[in-house]
Amino acid sequence: MAYGIETKCIHLENKETTCDKSGAISFPIYQTATFAHPGVGNSTGYDYSRLQNPTREQLEKIVAALENGVDALAFSSGMAAISALMELFHPGDHLIVDADLYGGTVRLFDNISEKNGIEVTTIDCAAENVKKYIRDNTRAIYIETPTNPMMNVIDIKKMSEIAKKRGILLIVDNTFLSPYFQNPLDLGADIVVHSGTKYLGGHNDTLSGFLVTSRDDIAEKLRFIIKTTGAGLAPFDSWLILRGIKTLGIRMEKAQENAFKIVHWLEQQKEVKRVLYPGLQTHPGYEIMKKQSRGFGAMVTFEVASKEFAQNILKNVRLIQFAESLGGVETLITYPITQTHADVPKELLEKNGINERVLRLSVGIESANDLISEFERVFKEANELSVDLHINSVV
Ligand SMILES: *Cc1c(COP(=O)(O)O)cnc(C)c1O
Repeated sequence: MAYGIETKCIHLENKETTCDKSGAISFPIYQTATFAHPGVGNSTGYDYSRLQNPTREQLEKIVAALENGVDALAFSSGMAAISALMELFHPGDHLIVDADLYGGTVRLFDNISEKNGIEVTTIDCAAENVKKYIRDNTRAIYIETPTNPMMNVIDIKKMSEIAKKRGILLIVDNTFLSPYFQNPLDLGADIVVHSGTKYLGGHNDTLSGFLVTSRDDIAEKLRFIIKTTGAGLAPFDSWLILRGIKTLGIRMEKAQENAFKIVHWLEQQKEVKRVLYPGLQTHPGYEIMKKQSRGFGAMVTFEVASKEFAQNILKNVRLIQFAESLGGVETLITYPITQTHADVPKELLEKNGINERVLRLSVGIESANDLISEFERVFKEANELSVDLHINSVV
């Protein structure tokens, strides 16, 4: 019987593949760029760390096991992983991408991929009939679910059936739920993307990214790409992510529990106009989530009554920090319009409902009481203030 997910975060089932013979419980950091060969035509299995390094390999095996993939590749960041992924495509290829993606991914598609001759059609995959947009040169559908930051839920199985029928790839960025709550490959996706910077690493201390696939032919192509383009994750960073993953299960459970409590509190505030959280039964994606995931995650988006109120919240938070990123033990609050989604075209922001009143919360694992007390204080102070902040940072 296969290990449960919490065990898979800590142990590989096939320990023979572990190259360390000392019995070390913590996997060693192989801080080496290159490896000596026993003789001509002989290799220890490792030649040069751009191709593979034992620490990175251990991490990749753990992540492949967590996503039930045949292979996983670890990159220096989520964007490095997605950039490498785009090397699967050629000029003239066409992609269908969801309208509400991580801002950096939109920037990559709009500026780099398009320049390289890849055509991109952006549609709301949760609402539109995706089939209508498939052309002869369409090669893939690219989605996140729940989406960032508007929490739209896309039916992965339905998308995979559409993709399979037309012989195109389904690529799912699974960063928001992590493999602890959702496994897109099991639902028919061909490639899973992760920003390991987020829940996998979990401590806001290391960047990383992953591509995981269920197909040997794709794994082979991606191995060639990582070897050739060179953005593989460094040994020490691989070790930090390995260490982070060990507690993925308890972190996800606690963060989700906190998220539910905060969501219920937010729902009762007169200043809050709407709360977007797929764990709410009133959320349009609730039933799909229940079918395709084991949890709802800890990302919460909410809209307040005015721009001033939103900016005053950001000004007054102390325990909760006003910062980009998500998925760490610390609760962070983000202003998508000037931060994560600053480079998303204005029309698309408007269409998606990302405005100056929308805030995104990555709920951490602190005491829920402390987080709610913080919100109570911040809301009170925000009501007393009406300062217009000029926040401008683009990451
Ligand atoms: C952060 C993020 C990325 C990019 O990952 P980096 O590690 O920051 O390069 C991609 N997709 C999603 C959903 C993200 O949240």
